[in-house]
Amino acid sequence: MLSPIASLSLSTLIEKLQSAELRSVDLTTAFMDSIADHDARLGAFVHLDRDVALQQAADVDAKRDAGESQGPLAGIPVAVKDVLCMKGQPATCASRMLKGFVPPYDATVIAKLKQAGAVVIGRTNMDEFAMGSSGENSAFHPTRNPWDTERIPGGSSSGSAVAVAARMAPLSLGSDTGGSIRQPAGLCGIVGMKPTYGRVSRYGLIAYASSLDQVGPFATDVTGAALLLEAIAGHDPLDSTSVNKPVPEYSKTVDHPLAGLKIGVPVEHFAEGLAPDVEKAVRAALEVYKSLGAELKEVHLPHSKYAVATYYLIATSEASSNLARYDGVHYGHRAEKFDSLGEMYEASRGEGFGDEVKRRIMLGVFALSAGYADKYYTKALQVRRLIRGDFDSAFREVDVIAGPVTPTAAFKLGEKTSDPLSMYLSDIYTISANLAGLPGMSIPCGFTAEGLPIGLQLQAAPFEEERLFRAARMYERETDWHTRLPPMAH
Ligand code: GLN
Repeated sequence: MLSPIASLSLSTLIEKLQSAELRSVDLTTAFMDSIADHDARLGAFVHLDRDVALQQAADVDAKRDAGESQGPLAGIPVAVKDVLCMKGQPATCASRMLKGFVPPYDATVIAKLKQAGAVVIGRTNMDEFAMGSSGENSAFHPTRNPWDTERIPGGSSSGSAVAVAARMAPLSLGSDTGGSIRQPAGLCGIVGMKPTYGRVSRYGLIAYASSLDQVGPFATDVTGAALLLEAIAGHDPLDSTSVNKPVPEYSKTVDHPLAGLKIGVPVEHFAEGLAPDVEKAVRAALEVYKSLGAELKEVHLPHSKYAVATYYLIATSEASSNLARYDGVHYGHRAEKFDSLGEMYEASRGEGFGDEVKRRIMLGVFALSAGYADKYYTKALQVRRLIRGDFDSAFREVDVIAGPVTPTAAFKLGEKTSDPLSMYLSDIYTISANLAGLPGMSIPCGFTAEGLPIGLQLQAAPFEEERLFRAARMYERETDWHTRLPPMAH
């Protein structure tokens, strides 16, 4: 059973905090209790520090009592993926390699959360080093989907999605390199957004593939995601790839519908491999837009058939380079038994990394190796440019692109663990946004006959997050999918 507080919407929670009807300490306690009730079964968290969370909440309450001005998320608990550094809290990326690592500094997004008054309630489980689509690659334990605990919640931000879907936190942060926010949001029936590359600082985000990684929000509704992005976005001198553009107040305009909205429907996203129940829900969502006056237009993304291959060359190449630092000397686990320096590296990396991470490193090292780099890595960069070109052409004709988030609803735990290629295909519709640097989001748009959530993906041109939120909210106002609670929460 959910406590009455944990089942309230984010906007109600904010109102109650602002009117002093509710104190952050009580609110935070209610969510911590919800974690205590449900997480043994769901496995969404890898680290909780009740005292630290309650102290942050008490500080917010004290400031409010003193009449001091408060940030927009003052007193609201936010769960964060274990890939983000927070001073004094362990950060493991759900890997044995980083067991015991306690960062001496805050990631910029964490510093911004604190500035906004948010309470960091806990650290969430994930696929090791953000490599995976099911949450099963965590070195600690898998995370389960609250709509059916025999099924995966998606990944790699598995715990952040489940924390929000099961109302163990009203908001959370994830990271998305190829779909890791949108895919689990879709499979868990909540809202997830990947911002434009450069919109949010990556400083203190433990790197997987630096040219693709972005941090973004999970929430139960579009307005919540808008509020959280507003809090974390913006230029950061500590991340040279963050872009110096003003951050619009997304939450202020989210309720303004877009007149004359043109929606692109990519034929390639409705092709072979798309489950009929997913297609039906997504097409029904497009009809809702039509009834609101939007124009639907077929668009083509001809190079999208190369997206998965391109992504797995670029992401693994960057990963093999980023993960070279975990050698047991600079960073990471050090083996106890070895006879030489070479053996020490070998044993440390062999013991510290899980199978999927090793597979990615080997693929990346191969794609970058002398004699092959031109054939693989350089070629992939060229195709990446073509994929971006497809989107540039499409966005000359339409305002947003809509389609499915994933080809199927949540699959069973263990179903794809021995077949990496079929696992990789779970991101077939989300990967292109990362390659092209675009913002994309997932919003709930229905359920399968078995009661599993289905997501609608919306994508826009770079830095058009405001338009994306407004378009998403237009649909959300007409439907009640986002208000449904998973069975375990009743
Ligand atoms: N599933 C993809 C991968 O395994 C995407 C992961 C992500 O976005 N972090 O690489």
